[in-house]
Amino acid sequence: MASPYKRVVVKISGNILYDFHGTASEIEQDDTLTNLLTQIKSCQQQGVELVLVFGGGNICRGREMVNVGVKRFTADNIGMLATLINSLLVREKLTKMGARCLLLSSFRIDSMCRQFEPYTAATALGDGQIVICAGGTGTPFVTTDSAAALRGVQTDADAVIKLTNVDGLYDKDPDKYADAKLLRFASYDYCVEHHKNIQVMDLSAFNLCRIHRLPIHVASFKEPNVITRIVNGGTVGTLVAEGEGR
Ligand code: UDP
Repeated sequence: MASPYKRVVVKISGNILYDFHGTASEIEQDDTLTNLLTQIKSCQQQGVELVLVFGGGNICRGREMVNVGVKRFTADNIGMLATLINSLLVREKLTKMGARCLLLSSFRIDSMCRQFEPYTAATALGDGQIVICAGGTGTPFVTTDSAAALRGVQTDADAVIKLTNVDGLYDKDPDKYADAKLLRFASYDYCVEHHKNIQVMDLSAFNLCRIHRLPIHVASFKEPNVITRIVNGGTVGTLVAEGEGR
């Protein structure tokens, strides 16, 4: 089946690794990650261009470290370094699987990889390489959701796929209300307006995607073949895009 998308950003939350406490050797052996990377490789073989943004929440989330007395910008810097740790493992795993990839970091760390720059990323994507973007946006006070949106806009991607541990967006909190319904579609305006109740993604990420009309798929990493299904036009989780209704 032909994909409706030529180029997509896949954002994978570090919390898929929570069960494993997140030490580097445990991440390396993680079957869930291997499964997701296998799907990414298969999309690459299909000719879809992929930008991969990995979170760092399995190691550090800035807003949580503040609770133990660490300054927010220090905590956020640690969080951004955590995304690099995960990304180094992802590069290694993809390379071992025979998938060509290029790791780029938002900040300079010359002995490990090159710095992100949109033209370098676009050239590598055009050459069929998976581009892994580490280090978030490179600035504190946001998360890798904003990095996924930013890299999506900078690389002219057609969509962002955000994989997390929930099925998608609900009309109300599914933990509190038994009758909460999963939304198959939500407009950008709805997400921005109801952002307080929709904790699934940063407001700045929704806003950036809204301004640049970049569709977002929010889905669970536990859905079988979630990446390949979305890339091939399947309905999984929630699509956030321009439109009427929610
Ligand atoms: N972070 C940041 N700026 C960014 C991206 C990430 O400061 O552009 C920090 C922030 O503290 C965040 C942490 O890195 O909590 C890890 O990223 P994230 O929370 O997005 O990871 P995930 O929950 O997706 O695994």
